[in-house]
Amino acid sequence: MVKENLLQVQENIRKACEKSGRNPKEVTLIAVSKTKPVPMLKEAYEDGSREFGENKVQEIMDKYPVLPPDIHWHMIGHLQRNKVKYIVDKVCLIHSVDSFRLAEEISAQAKKKRVEADILVEVNIAQEESKFGTSREEAFCLVEEIARLPHIHIKGLMTIAPFVENPEDNREYFRQIRQLSVDIMRKNIDNVSMSVLSMGMTGDYMVAIEEGATMVRVGTGIFGERNYQKTCETD
Ligand SMILES: *Cc1c(COP(=O)(O)O)cnc(C)c1O
Repeated sequence: MVKENLLQVQENIRKACEKSGRNPKEVTLIAVSKTKPVPMLKEAYEDGSREFGENKVQEIMDKYPVLPPDIHWHMIGHLQRNKVKYIVDKVCLIHSVDSFRLAEEISAQAKKKRVEADILVEVNIAQEESKFGTSREEAFCLVEEIARLPHIHIKGLMTIAPFVENPEDNREYFRQIRQLSVDIMRKNIDNVSMSVLSMGMTGDYMVAIEEGATMVRVGTGIFGERNYQKTCETD
């Protein structure tokens, strides 16, 4: 099932790129494997997936040692400062940085582990109460502050758009965050690149690609529905 799903998602990515005149090579598909068991990740790996997204530190720690070393792990969930030390040398990109204090801790732990940490600044573009992320207005300031820290490098922006029935409803938000990334890029801040735009999930990744996403985070569309009940029982 994973294989068919992956092929379908890749085909959809190709279509969205074609529609918007983009090169599919510009778009990285992150297989969001949170709550899914290791054999399923192995299946996706066998089918060619190398980018995996997880939203819990513990799950990265559990899966990291038992899966091939050429996997790129993406931390896409809210990150607590006291847990940065466990993953800073294991993940290739932290998508969810929304405060200076968190960035400071990433910088400190990266130094300690002798790595360079690549991060995205998470923006709550629709200003939803329930979501993490900085506001559009605060984003400039936050980027400028984080840029001065050593061993941490801003590569772009990430957003989690609202949950909607019709993906077209999120098009305007994707446009806004893309515009924000262009505005930040124009400031030419040292140590800041805006090459990554992480946006789009199972319900809306095609629209996100049409609006400029360079990374899409697809879980359900690849691995099927998540059963949260079960994970809670085993926790
Ligand atoms: C779970 C999750 C996804 C994937 O969601 P799907 O709707 O299953 O594709 C993407 N991004 C983040 C931040 C997530 O937590």
